[in-house]
Amino acid sequence: MSFEFLNLHPSLIQAVADAGYTKPTDIQNKAIPQVLKGHDLIAAAQTGTGKTASFVLPVLNKLLDGKTEKKKRFRALIVVPTRELAIQIEQKIRLYAQHTDLVCTAVYGGTDEKLQKQALIEGCDILIATPGRLLDLYGQRALYFEEVELFVLDEADRMLDMGFIDDINRIVTRLPEEAQHLLFSATLSNKVRDLAKTATHNPYEISIAAKQASKSSIEQWIITVDKDKKSALLSHLIQTHQWRQALIFIETKHGAAKLVTQLEKRGIVAEAFHSGRSQAVRTQLLDDFKAGKVQYLIATGVAARGIDIIDLPLVINYDLPFPADEYVHRIGRTGRASAKGEAISLVSKDNFKNLCMIESRLGHLLERRVVEGFEPKKEVPVSILNYVPKHKRKEPEQK
Ligand code: AMP
Repeated sequence: MSFEFLNLHPSLIQAVADAGYTKPTDIQNKAIPQVLKGHDLIAAAQTGTGKTASFVLPVLNKLLDGKTEKKKRFRALIVVPTRELAIQIEQKIRLYAQHTDLVCTAVYGGTDEKLQKQALIEGCDILIATPGRLLDLYGQRALYFEEVELFVLDEADRMLDMGFIDDINRIVTRLPEEAQHLLFSATLSNKVRDLAKTATHNPYEISIAAKQASKSSIEQWIITVDKDKKSALLSHLIQTHQWRQALIFIETKHGAAKLVTQLEKRGIVAEAFHSGRSQAVRTQLLDDFKAGKVQYLIATGVAARGIDIIDLPLVINYDLPFPADEYVHRIGRTGRASAKGEAISLVSKDNFKNLCMIESRLGHLLERRVVEGFEPKKEVPVSILNYVPKHKRKEPEQK
C-alpha cells in the first residue's frame, strides 16, 4: 500500500516522497488510520520501525485539518525521555511539515532556557519536550497546556526506567480531558500497561511483532576475549577492518574517556559521548557523527535509544549491557529501516551473566568467534538459554 491510501494531506504525502519513502512501514500502516480516526493508542514498536512518522504524520494531519488562527499555544505535545531524542524528533517534524506552515519547537534541559521561552512566546503548533524542562517552564508560567489536542508519550518504557513516572503523571493530569493520547513504547511491560491506564482512555492497541523488531537485517556475533585485552583487540579490529564508521558502546563515562585515550595511543581518533559532556558538545558530536566527520564514537547508554543514524554500518558492544533489552536497543542503531548492519560484542568471562540474559532474550545463541592472538585464557562458558536471574527465581514452596 502506498502513502496515498492513508488519507493524508497532499503536503505530507509530498514530504514523505521528498524523504524518499515509497510505502508506509508496518507501524505506519497500523497507527496512522487509528490516530486519524481519533482513537487513543498504545503501540509497542522499537525505534527503527518508522514509528516517529507513525505518530508525527497523523498529528500534523490533524493540526492541518483543524487549523485555528490563534496559534498562540501549542496544540500537540510530544514528551520524550532524552534531549537527543527531542532534537531528533524536532528535525523529523521539520522535514515532514516542510510544505506546511506548522511550527514546532523543542524544550529540554542542559541548554539556556531563555531561547526556549522566546520560542514559546512567538508561538508554535507542536512542542517536543523532556519532562523536567517542561514542568519547570510550566511552573514558571512560560507555557500552558490548555490548548493541547494531541499528546504523545514516546519511549514510555525508557521514561519509567529513568524514574519519570511522577513527572508524567503530573503532566497527564494537567492536560485537557478531551485531548487524544498516544503512547509508544519499545515493550509493553506490566509497568507500561499500568501507566497506559492513566495516560490513555480506552486505547487502540498495536504491537509490531517482536520478530520484525528484532532486526534480522543485523548480522550479530560475539568475540570472546580476556577483559584486559579488550582495548588492544578493538584497536586491532579497527586497524584490520578499516570500518567506515562504528558506534562503540561502553558502560561508564570514565571507561569511555579511558578508551578514547587508549585508542589514541594506537593512532586511532575517537570521541567520547556521555552524560558528563555538555549538551552543546553532545549535539555537535552527534551531528558530526551523522555527517561522517567523526568515525568512531565511544558512547554510554545515552545513545542507545531513539537516535537515528542513517546508514550506520556497525555497532560494537565493548561491554555487554544489562538489562537484555538494552542490547536490542544498542544494536538497533544499525540496520535502520531494513538496511544491512553488523553488531559485534566483545565478551569476557565476567560478562557471562549478561550474555546468558541477552541470548535468552534473543532466543538463540550468538555466533562466537575468536581472533588470532587474542584467544581468551579465561573461557566464556556457553549460555543456558532459559537462564533466570536469582532475584526472579521462584522459591520452592515450604512444606
Ligand atoms: P524511526 O523508527 O522513527 O526512528 O525511523 C527509523 C528510520 O526509518 C528513519 O531514518 C526514518 O527516516 C526511516 N523511515 C521512516 N518511515 C519510512 C518509510 N515509510 N520508508 C522508508 N524509511 C522510513
